[in-house]
Amino acid sequence: MTISLFGPDFPFAYDDWIAHPAGLGALPDTAHGKRVAIIGSGAAGIVAGYELMKLGLRPVVFEAGAFGGRLRSHRFEGTKDVVAELGGMRFPVSSRAFWHYVDLLGLDSAPFPNPLTPAARSTVIDLLGQTHYATTLDDLPDLYRAVADAYDAALERGADFAALKAAIAARDPARIKEIWDPIVKTWDERTFYDFVASSDAFQALSFRHREVFGQVGFGTGGWDSDFPNSMLEILRVNATECDENQRLIAGGVAQMPHGLWRHAPEVLVHWPRGTTLAALNGGAPRAGVARLRRDEAGGIEVTDRWGRAEPFDAVIVTCQSHLLSTAIDTEERLFPHALWMALDRTRYMQSAKTFVMVDRPFWTDRNPATGHDTMSMTLTDRMTRGTYLFDNGPDRPSVICLTYSWMTDALKVLPLPVDRRVELALGALGQIYPGVDIRGHIVGEPVTISWENEPNFLGAFKGALPGHYRYNHRMFGHFMQEMLPPHERGIFLAGDGVSWTPAWVEGAVQTSLNAVAGVIAHLGGRFHPENPSPCDRYPDWGPVVLPE
Ligand SMILES: Cc1cc2nc3c(=O)[nH]c(=O)nc-3n(C[C@H](O)[C@H](O)[C@H](O)COP(=O)(O)OP(=O)(O)OC[C@H]3O[C@@H](n4cnc5c(N)ncnc54)[C@H](O)[C@@H]3O)c2cc1C
Repeated sequence: MTISLFGPDFPFAYDDWIAHPAGLGALPDTAHGKRVAIIGSGAAGIVAGYELMKLGLRPVVFEAGAFGGRLRSHRFEGTKDVVAELGGMRFPVSSRAFWHYVDLLGLDSAPFPNPLTPAARSTVIDLLGQTHYATTLDDLPDLYRAVADAYDAALERGADFAALKAAIAARDPARIKEIWDPIVKTWDERTFYDFVASSDAFQALSFRHREVFGQVGFGTGGWDSDFPNSMLEILRVNATECDENQRLIAGGVAQMPHGLWRHAPEVLVHWPRGTTLAALNGGAPRAGVARLRRDEAGGIEVTDRWGRAEPFDAVIVTCQSHLLSTAIDTEERLFPHALWMALDRTRYMQSAKTFVMVDRPFWTDRNPATGHDTMSMTLTDRMTRGTYLFDNGPDRPSVICLTYSWMTDALKVLPLPVDRRVELALGALGQIYPGVDIRGHIVGEPVTISWENEPNFLGAFKGALPGHYRYNHRMFGHFMQEMLPPHERGIFLAGDGVSWTPAWVEGAVQTSLNAVAGVIAHLGGRFHPENPSPCDRYPDWGPVVLPE
């Protein structure tokens, strides 16, 4: 068995649950047709809507902005399939539940051109004024190998890493928890930087090694923006191989939420064959949600921004958690106070990307003087940080992600218009590739995004800080509602911000499936004994409880 996002906090096989022929569960006939409001049309909202429709419910989707949320593929004007992935762009094969839906839709994928992978052809590392051209790690100076080995050693020593990965690969919940739960206690309140700097392996090396690690890191590179985060966040990424073996979706990942919206499932109850989410919603989502209230009948009243108020039997909230305080007038008693604390403390990271379309993948031309590619996937300490090259085939318009950055690097460009961002990026790349005429290849209009500047997001994705484990736990476990008083039941949280693996779409999908299980239980449904649900497994295998 290979590695998947099976735990480590809640080792539950979401991929098996959704693929099981028995289905996710069954609702009583009286529940069929009941209305569930879904706030947000991102991956979490659309997966939840799709699964609830199959169970015979009527999901009503509300969306305040662009359909698809943070799976936003910008299509360059005049092209059929030349896209810039403004949100999620590289999807680890370990994200099995996400790939279940991608495969269901028959979408094409290809290896993502990450640093030092064959898909990138070549990589340039430009650090501290020195530029190295490489196709594999072995082409780089010894220092880079020493840095990679030191991180491997730190993981092994600090997190019993080989054993943890073996347990995840074997899908052995008891063994995973035996290893992971003590790690939670040790590392919740300590940072990624602390983990690296205090490790014996890095202690034996110089500051320069740590500095290089911060720039090049592992897998996708450039992890120093996460240095202040809780080390648990990073360990989850490493242990579940989120940062390895990633693929892109040809033509854009936004096809996933759009495709599910229009997809007629083979098997569904209550609704006639051929029913789709789009059809159940009259062809379009409702407007953004402005207000949430408990109604007199015990349901939840959802009011959209045009004042249309309707009762719902359950609600799934997938927007970023702070919007429940700032953008939606949410009745306070819908959630316990300890949960409000978690929702409001959730910390979102900043991220900016700038793309241009070019006439062709000119970077594959060989430089006659060096024999190297004209340009390569580039990691640098200059302000572009990561530059990615998307080859759509010879003589076809292709795409350069000139810069993908986080936190302070993203904030530097926050007030700047797209043209200025392009100029700054071209300036930095000009230092690395003197004489390469990138601007001579640009066609169409560039596109940029700062997620923290988007009113329906106010940040890119969660990045838990030290001491945030309990907040994560409260949000993630909120779908288990049996112990809640009636006035707090029937509203469920899902999405990137409540998952254990923020910034990875699999977390959005998995928490969405938790919410689906919660809705089934809330509406009097039952789960199939041969296909246990997250609700069935949570009491035994739920995340370790840290004392309050
Ligand atoms: C820059 C960036 C890079 C990323 N890279 C990767 C990657 O490479 N690989 C990967 O796996 N994942 C990546 N991710 C993470 C991935 O994109 C997310 O985990 C996933 O798309 C989140 O889905 P969601 O449904 O939880 O939230 P969202 O997609 O944010 O959906 C929530 C929706 O709620 C809507 N909304 C907000 N307010 C309201 C309201 N009042 N009423 C109604 N609707 C509302 C929003 O408009 C939005 O559409 C990246 C994310 C970003 C931002």
